[in-house]
Order: sequence, then structure tokens, then C-alpha cells
Amino acid sequence: MITVIHTINELRTHIKNYRDENKNAQIGLIPTMGALHKGHASLITKSAQTCSLSIVSVFVNPTQFGVNEDFSKYPRTLEKDIEVAKEAGANIIFAPSAEEMYGKGYSKDFITLVCPPYDLVNKLCGKTRTGHFDGVATVVSKLFNIVQPDYAFFGQKDAQQLYIIEKMVKDLNFNIKIIPCPIVREDSGLAISSRNQYLSEKEKEYASSLFKSLSAIEKYYKQGIKNTKALFDTAISMLAKEAQLEYLDFIDYENFEKTDIIKGRTLIAICAIIGSTRLIDNIVLE
Ligand code: AMP
Repeated sequence: MITVIHTINELRTHIKNYRDENKNAQIGLIPTMGALHKGHASLITKSAQTCSLSIVSVFVNPTQFGVNEDFSKYPRTLEKDIEVAKEAGANIIFAPSAEEMYGKGYSKDFITLVCPPYDLVNKLCGKTRTGHFDGVATVVSKLFNIVQPDYAFFGQKDAQQLYIIEKMVKDLNFNIKIIPCPIVREDSGLAISSRNQYLSEKEKEYASSLFKSLSAIEKYYKQGIKNTKALFDTAISMLAKEAQLEYLDFIDYENFEKTDIIKGRTLIAICAIIGSTRLIDNIVLE
């Protein structure tokens, strides 16, 4: 059984009753923008294995989209999402409207925002997506306050987002354990994404070269190459020429800064535009 809830009040009442009736309740939250796929399902399944109640939020959050981004064309498939979430083990879908979340006639310039530190947002996706992580941190904070989960599940697919959320939870003392979940991929290696449905079959082939580039880096790193310039050049030679590279950066997890030499745990994150679709992927080297 899955319950679909659209309002904050109804969700709060439902959770209060559940906690009153279940003394050892462990609530898991899986924030999503819907168009659920196997990647989201893996987060939901992880929550269902960890928690007694799993809540999936489905909300295409307007405050995290830039003016020229795909907010209006972003896929909205609630009926299918309900099935996917149910199958993966969710108990509740929370699908609020933008008005429910931000108030009637809200303006992006007149709401209280949670702004992650500049040093975390001035790189990777934050460089071109101005304000994106303010929108993400704001909506995730709101969801955390509404649901007050014990656990929240996020994909490594959005590595910068995950890092920012973990920092936010620490900085703002949210009493929530963040569970990172591995990237789910197609057989071709392409990281599954709601935006993959914008791609033609041919473009999907080009898109799979993002992971091929990352895999080449991993292979050469394992052979002892630690210089990121050399690894960068290798990766670029594997990238489809149809892919327009936005960034391929090597980030030291110690300080989330770019690094010239791989020393410890390192995030290698790539972003490329194929046709008109912007895709991201990453691997972590230890
Ligand atoms: P989104 O709906 O794109 O905002 O994603 C919701 C959550 O699902 C985020 O924590 C994503 O990192 C995660 N996610 C999206 N795609 C994947 C994937 N292929 N594998 C694992 N997690 C994913």
C-alpha cells in the first residue's frame, strides 16, 4: 500500500500518527524530482531496508532551475512514479505543488534561502548553474523540517549536491543521517538520469562516452598515473566528439578543491552537453 499526499499538513499529521503508534519508528526520506527510474528505485529500496517508513518526495523544485534551464519541460510522470516507488518499497509519496511549498504567488527573490558556502558552489555545476545549490539546499532543508526523518538517501550521481547536503546537515545541526547511494548505470555505462529521455538512440551512444572517459582515468590511475593533466588528456581522447565538454575536474575530497595530483580520496566529475541535454557523471578514486 502506498499513500499519496499533496499537502504539508496532511503529511505532518500522517507522520505524527505513525510515530505515536510506532515507538521504534525509523523514517527515511528520499527527495526526488520525479520521473522515477532505477537510480531512484535503488535509493527507495535502501530506505525500505533501513527504515520502517519510507517517504519519497516528488517535487520539481522551481527555485533550483535557472531562467534558461529545463524547468517547464522537465518530465512530470506522477502516476508512473507512484508505481515505481511502490514497487521499490516506498510507503508514502509526498507530491506538493510549488504554491504548497513556497506559498501563493511566491517570488524567488522573496523567500528565505539556505545558501551553501561559496567555496563549495563556485565549481563544477555551480559555475554555470548560478543559484542552483541555493535552491537545492533550501528545498532539502524545507523537506527535512517538514518530514523530520531519521535518515535521508541521496545518490552519488549528484556528488556535489551530496557533499553540500552533508555539510549543511553538519552546519545547521539537522539530526538526520545522510546515506549516500551508488550510481546506477545502463549496461552501456551511461548513468541513469531523468534527463536521458531527452536523448535520441544515437545521442545515448555518445552519452555513454562520459563513463568511458571516467573508466579510462580509473584504468590509468591504477597503473600508477596520478598527474591529473595526463589523466585529463587520456579521458578527453575517449569522449565522443559530439559531446561538448563543460568540465572534467579532479576534486580532492579533503577540502573539495581542485587538485593537480591525486593524493587521497578524489572525485572525478564530468559534465557534457549532448544535443541540448546536459549530462553529469563521476567516479571516486581512493
Ligand atoms: P533527481 O530526481 O534527479 O533530483 O534525483 C533524486 C535523487 O536520486 C538524488 O539524490 C540523485 O542523486 C539520485 N539519483 C539520480 N539518478 C541516480 C542514479 N543513476 N543512481 C543513483 N542515484 C541517482
